[in-house]
Amino acid sequence: MSNSTKYVFVTGGVTSSLGKGIISASLAKLLQARGYSTTIQKLDPYINIDPGTLNPYEHGECFVTDDGAETDLDLGHYERFLNVPTSQANNVTTGRIYQAVIEKERRGDYLGKTVQVIPHITDEIKDCIQLLSKDGKFDMIITEIGGTVGDIESLPYVEAVRQMLWEHEEDCIVIHLTLVPYLSAAGELKTKPTQHSVKQMMELGVQPDILCCRTEHELDLTLRKKIAKFCNVSINAVIEARDANSIYDVPLLMQAEELDKVVLQKLGLITKTNPDLSDWKAFLQRLNNPKKEVTIGLIGKYVELKDSYKSISESFIHGGVANETKVNVEWIHSETLTKDNIQESLGHLNGILVAPGFGTRGISGKIEAVNFARENNIPFLGICLGMQVAVIEFARNVLKMTDANSTEISEKTKFPVISMMEEQKQVSYFGGTMRLGTYKCQLKSNSKASRAYNSENINERHRHRFEFNNSYLEQFEKAGMLASGRNPETGLVEVIEIPNHPWFVGVQFHPEYKSTVAKPHPLFVAFVQAALTHKTKK
Ligand code: GLN
Repeated sequence: MSNSTKYVFVTGGVTSSLGKGIISASLAKLLQARGYSTTIQKLDPYINIDPGTLNPYEHGECFVTDDGAETDLDLGHYERFLNVPTSQANNVTTGRIYQAVIEKERRGDYLGKTVQVIPHITDEIKDCIQLLSKDGKFDMIITEIGGTVGDIESLPYVEAVRQMLWEHEEDCIVIHLTLVPYLSAAGELKTKPTQHSVKQMMELGVQPDILCCRTEHELDLTLRKKIAKFCNVSINAVIEARDANSIYDVPLLMQAEELDKVVLQKLGLITKTNPDLSDWKAFLQRLNNPKKEVTIGLIGKYVELKDSYKSISESFIHGGVANETKVNVEWIHSETLTKDNIQESLGHLNGILVAPGFGTRGISGKIEAVNFARENNIPFLGICLGMQVAVIEFARNVLKMTDANSTEISEKTKFPVISMMEEQKQVSYFGGTMRLGTYKCQLKSNSKASRAYNSENINERHRHRFEFNNSYLEQFEKAGMLASGRNPETGLVEVIEIPNHPWFVGVQFHPEYKSTVAKPHPLFVAFVQAALTHKTKK
């Protein structure tokens, strides 16, 4: 293995949504499977400090790392593929870059100099890229540049890449992901957009080493030659990236195209060994050959945009594979659910998940969904807001606290069964101020949760402001809702369950952030199992 860290930059051209995140994660998987310790980083050109304050409609799910960073959903893919945790250093935005530079300027660090995009902003970007190599933990750093080359806002990033190439020529390469569209009227794949996009890169001083061409059809030799010639890359560096059935197929497709081999060759590294992908292939084998099937409803208010619940839907894939089961996720808009249509809407389901969320929209539908799951013995998993809603439902319908609520939804409720955490009461800024990141949780022995985890001490990631109000705990436990998981230091309730129900679990944390291909999350595995049992009993 070489002694200096290698940097692979992944840029995108022609359009957004070409799947840079999946290509990066797939390449990282192949390099990891060859024994290189690999991490992936995403540089996002928008001005928000992080996506924590963004509406999911704008940017999909906000992924949370162990160290409490609110990040881009691509980091979820990186973790699911690599089974290695990411951190704040793996996601940097323009907002964060400028914030750091402005803070330095205010501190006087620039000693009277004029602070400019070049060199100060680009230096800060380069520092963020190299930060991940500081402790020598990684052989390979794959840096994905968000957005599309040619956007005004990505210019400083491409310039930083140009400088990195200039300063560390031996250790850096650039993969450019582009689109080769098919024109049905002409019956042809077209290379011109790719040529233009590479030309644009070259105008900025960056010659891509490898081109990954997203295409719906085969890239034949003639086309590969044409792209190679016009874009200054070797023919084996023109990689076909065909549409795949599942994102989990992409590492194997990239291996077939020898993307990892070309990357190693260009970096001057040995390519003799083959990646060991036996576990990955075993996962795919089970994914593609399920023996059983269940249908689980995902009740949320952003269901029109499936990216809003990316980690949850991926966790269902992992939990399904562990049970050799295909999980059909039915996306149900909480605003459409009422007492009158609940049987018709949810009656056929083998499991009900109430999703995380913020604010009041869609709450009454979520309460109806919990009520239906509880009274009809349908396996239930409530995540974060989903757990809070389960507490509200139990208070109203079992404890007869008619207007019980969370103070997030009704500040004046007579029964604030969910209330704001003490440390949150002082907070006036919205960004990065929630209870974020990993906290310990102690599970009660013999609870559904500890059975699922096969452990009583767990760590899970959080993202919330409100919590179970412990002054009601005794009443809840007497009436049959148990606090089966609590934070050992603060006593905050992290898990609730109903022992007298086949499988009813609510968690204040987000298990979906920790489910990976190598380690499907135990709660999703147990939930799918409970759904299977429910189906056979029905
Ligand atoms: N809105 C709730 C809170 O802040 C739940 C948050 C969530 O579901 N992530 O506590």
